Amino acid sequence: MTPLIAFFPLIALALGLVLGSFYNVCIHRYLTGESIVLPASHCPRCRNALVWWENIPLVSFILLRGRCRACKEPISWRYPIVEAVSGIWALLLAVQFGLGWEWLLYMAVGGLLIIMSFIDFQEFILPDVFTFPGAILAFSGTALMTDMTWGDSLLGAVIGAGAFWLLQKGYYLVRGVEGLGTGDIKLMLMLGALVGWQGLPMMIFLAAFTALAASLGYMAKNAHQGMRTRIPFGPFLSLGAMLQILYGPVLMHLLMPLA
Ligand SMILES: [Zn+2]
Repeated sequence: MTPLIAFFPLIALALGLVLGSFYNVCIHRYLTGESIVLPASHCPRCRNALVWWENIPLVSFILLRGRCRACKEPISWRYPIVEAVSGIWALLLAVQFGLGWEWLLYMAVGGLLIIMSFIDFQEFILPDVFTFPGAILAFSGTALMTDMTWGDSLLGAVIGAGAFWLLQKGYYLVRGVEGLGTGDIKLMLMLGALVGWQGLPMMIFLAAFTALAASLGYMAKNAHQGMRTRIPFGPFLSLGAMLQILYGPVLMHLLMPLA
């Protein structure tokens, strides 16, 4: 084994952490309307420009003890969480797929999903500027870079988005309020294309299961707010798709050993 291949998961982890910092910039600048390129990284409150050691993923947050060096404003927990999620995603993908086209494709779509998920957590929207390019990338990438055929991928997108569209209409008929956002339907175009029609049931099961677990945890912590807690579904759909990509076949075998 060449050294590059042997150390690839570690290289991937480092790259994932650095990309996580970049995703943080994208999320922050999308939420605030600032340009992606300029100005250089700075504290959102006092605008103090960050020096190099304040820009190291995870490490800086610990060195700074979660506060801006200049004005002591607490730094959002979103920063280390996004960096950690991005690093772990890159590492697990590297272990599962090794260095190759699939790793590259899933890194790119994973980056989009991480950015979208944390915007959704904050603002309850899944912007079209991410969902539509994401769907095109997922569809073309899956057809060209994985074992899945373009037919599997297209069917996944159509069935996934179609099922969520029906669910949205049905919920509205019964309850008279929007339960599912239109952004979730657009996201399903991307995720369905990514996991293919074969991967959809497990993906949706994982999304629903993790969303339910998170809702119960959130309600237990905020019991005074009752049942009207609003939880975005986009991040959990994304998590379901990411788990399906990493461990779908293994999970299927565990849940249905005879299938
Ligand atoms: Zn500051």
